[in-house]
Amino acid sequence: MPDKLPRVRFAPSPTGFLHVGNARTALYNWLFARHTGGAFLLRIEDTDLDRSEMRHETQLMEDLLWLRLDWDEGPGVEGPHAPYRQSERLGIYREHTDRLLAEGKAYRCFCTAEELEAERHEAAAAHRPQVYSGRCRAVSDTESVARAAAGEPFAVRLRIPDHPLRFHDLVRGAVEFPNETISDPILVRSSGMPVYNYVVTLDDALMEITHVIRGDDHISNTPKQVAIYEAFGWKPPEFAHLSTILGSDRERLSKRHGATSVASFRAMGILPEALVNYLALLGWGAEGGTRELFSLEELVHEFRIERVTASPAIFDWEKLHWLNRHYLKAADPERIAELAWSHFVSAGLLPSHNAIWQVTTASVEAWFGKLLALFLPAVNQLDELPVKAAFVFRFSPAAARANDENAALLATEASQKVLAAFAARVAAHSGPITPELFRAWMNEIKTETGAKGKDLFHPVRIALTGSHSGPEFDRFIPIVEEGSRLDLPVHVLSVRERIEQFMGGGR
Ligand code: GLU
Repeated sequence: MPDKLPRVRFAPSPTGFLHVGNARTALYNWLFARHTGGAFLLRIEDTDLDRSEMRHETQLMEDLLWLRLDWDEGPGVEGPHAPYRQSERLGIYREHTDRLLAEGKAYRCFCTAEELEAERHEAAAAHRPQVYSGRCRAVSDTESVARAAAGEPFAVRLRIPDHPLRFHDLVRGAVEFPNETISDPILVRSSGMPVYNYVVTLDDALMEITHVIRGDDHISNTPKQVAIYEAFGWKPPEFAHLSTILGSDRERLSKRHGATSVASFRAMGILPEALVNYLALLGWGAEGGTRELFSLEELVHEFRIERVTASPAIFDWEKLHWLNRHYLKAADPERIAELAWSHFVSAGLLPSHNAIWQVTTASVEAWFGKLLALFLPAVNQLDELPVKAAFVFRFSPAAARANDENAALLATEASQKVLAAFAARVAAHSGPITPELFRAWMNEIKTETGAKGKDLFHPVRIALTGSHSGPEFDRFIPIVEEGSRLDLPVHVLSVRERIEQFMGGGR
């Protein structure tokens, strides 16, 4: 009989944003399922009722779908193992606890917090491992039932077996934990709430998960979970523990390292295909290659769990930006324009696409296309665009003059002659200024003043953009000229307005 198709799951707790580490876990599970033709489940682990929030769950699902990681079973899709939210499965857990208690695989623990604390103190003083003594193992069944019936609070603990706990890890090979180092784990707290190790195991087993692929922060939980499988007489799944992701300082990646949530990458203007490609490379590499560019479809084809490395991965912004630049260039320009537009709206530079503006949008959109063609190649992520294009929208001639570096450049006699000659031509001309006209003027000014190269172009560039370096005249002149005729939230100064204000010492 052929082996059953793999079934994997991503099991986030909706207590915060989906961050890089968990997104990679989701991706590897999804790739594994899609590569093998198996199933990818989404299970919401919301038994921590105080910290779980619906908005996080919603955001999490949105983030997964943004990355194009869809699930075959889970909230919104449902399936044979529903419900897929742990808070809706408490009855299932209770039945299984009753079974373990009845079979003597688990026992009620009546120890109070103070008693447990005292035990830990003693163990520490005697330099013994601080594991629970198992005192309540000795409470007889009759006594246990009677005390529970009398209302005495109790937790339910699993009897850890008298042998080492072993499992096979697809990333790390054979892993073994000596049983003496493991306390009889609590399965259900005295509040009646079952704990993570217990419910994760029950659900993985009941949902017929064949491979548990998750972060290595869970590796010390795995022996306890293996013991739970054993108590029920179930065969444990395969495990794969993914290495930690570190920041460039080799510390565990955290908020201190800047943005780490998928939502924040999205807000910055990182494309989902760039992030997916990047996350895939964080701990995995294709067979025999140095290849780094992979579409999601190519990843599905190439992904093998055996190629996942056990050594920590270091988050590398430069590489993410390199990939993002690649995908910004490769993507459909209309899609990028749409995304880029919203960054200008946030910066207050472009109108949002609403009914009132609909009349002007066609011309504004055409103009925006040219603006984007000019600035897009210069950015790593879309939110850098408004800053790169700032001189188009928020040019201050006064600030351009006041800048120290500019002031030195402008102080020379050659600069003053060039600027005067340029201003005179603008004054004598009526109508729009084209790149052709501009070039003709600059040739005349060159002959007239004898200035050439930097001496000729820098002063004019400063007067029009505020800086002596930047995009070619031919490319930005049409943008400011056309922009000045559009109805925009911020008036774009034309070449004429720029030079007039600059010469007049205006704002
Ligand atoms: N809810 C757990 C977490 O988010 C799941 C861990 C697991 O995959 O078993 O860390």
